[in-house]
Amino acid sequence: MVIDNATLLIGIAFSSASLLVALLIGWLNARSETYLVLGAIGMAMVVFAVMLLGLGNGAYGYAQHLVPYTMILIGFSFVYAGARRFRDMATSYRPPIIVGTVSVIAIAIPFLMGLTGLGTALLNLLAAVILVLCAVEHWRSKDHPHLALNANAILYCITALSFLACAAVLLAEGRWVITEPPKNWAEDFNSIMSLVGLTGIGALTLTLHYARAAHRHHTEANTDSLTGVLNRRALFDRFGATRQPSSIAVLMFDLDHFKQVNDRFGHAQGDRVLERFADVLRQELRTSDVASRIGGEEFCVVLIDIDQETAQAIAERIRQAFADLAVAIDDKGLIATVSIGLAIPATDEDFSALLNRADAALYQAKNGGRNQVRLATLRLVA
Ligand code: GH3
Ligand code: MG
Ligand code: MG
Repeated sequence: MVIDNATLLIGIAFSSASLLVALLIGWLNARSETYLVLGAIGMAMVVFAVMLLGLGNGAYGYAQHLVPYTMILIGFSFVYAGARRFRDMATSYRPPIIVGTVSVIAIAIPFLMGLTGLGTALLNLLAAVILVLCAVEHWRSKDHPHLALNANAILYCITALSFLACAAVLLAEGRWVITEPPKNWAEDFNSIMSLVGLTGIGALTLTLHYARAAHRHHTEANTDSLTGVLNRRALFDRFGATRQPSSIAVLMFDLDHFKQVNDRFGHAQGDRVLERFADVLRQELRTSDVASRIGGEEFCVVLIDIDQETAQAIAERIRQAFADLAVAIDDKGLIATVSIGLAIPATDEDFSALLNRADAALYQAKNGGRNQVRLATLRLVA
């Protein structure tokens, strides 16, 4: 090899240490993202172990190796716990604790029996298993962006493969007792993969963290926090700037006598009614349709790829479903209703003109006695 093993090990330690600091800074800015700190602790243990191995300078025995090997397995178990937390913040710590404990005991037994070769082979095998478990967690994460997740999972697998190769060579040679660190192609491959793997995984984890944070901020900025549907800004971002194809329909909703709902039952119950109305929208709409809350108790839905009759039928279904929904408040029953204005775009009509017509139709629905759907007339030609 061009670089000797000890230099490479120290190289791994330094590059990982700088990433570790970056992970910790990421965590300090977002304390709830525990996977960052778990990853950083895991990496710190591996880095420390690698430095101990580098400083060991050829001496071999359970004192020089059992300690760093134990730290590597515990470190990888922390990384595994971090990968699980990355997938799901509510996931249990039990599997990584079990994996860590079992693997530490599994390598301690042969080392304490003097079977240093078998212990080293087991260390490599177990490290590979834990790294594959990390990869599986990343593959199970249905998160953004997929490219970085997959790249990270692949890096885990290649690094695991290099540990597996070390175990395979030792086991194939049947060297149950070794007195100096093994030197073979697999160890070289493993040293390089540890450098590439640790730094790559650390960097990609940071990338994933910031990509996820950006995605979350984008979603929060576009979502109405009470009802979970889009907010006004998101609706206009999506439809505001373009002329509308004639295959869409716009529904404007305004809940009826909502002031009275607040006055009689309180603002909190009013909020609950708004949430229930959003539930009705989610239940009645197709996934391609876009629901938004554009004001206090005013909602707007854009139906995509639809004709007028179907749009009218959907509006009617929403109206009926909401009217049927008795929201139990104490032992009194509250029936809330909604008025709906429906507009189909005229040729070359822009979004705000379309909304205005839907709004005018909504006004007619209110004047006509509420709890009804009105279809907007086309623009009058000046
Ligand atoms: P109309 O049938 O004519 O629409 O009667 P209305 O009482 O609904 O009249 P209006 O649209 O003027 O009143 C809207 C009320 O909605 C006023 C306000 O108290 C209430 N409101 C607006 N935003 C919220 C909210 O976020 N939560 C609750 N609980 N109430 C809200
Ligand atoms: Mg209103
Ligand atoms: Mg109202």
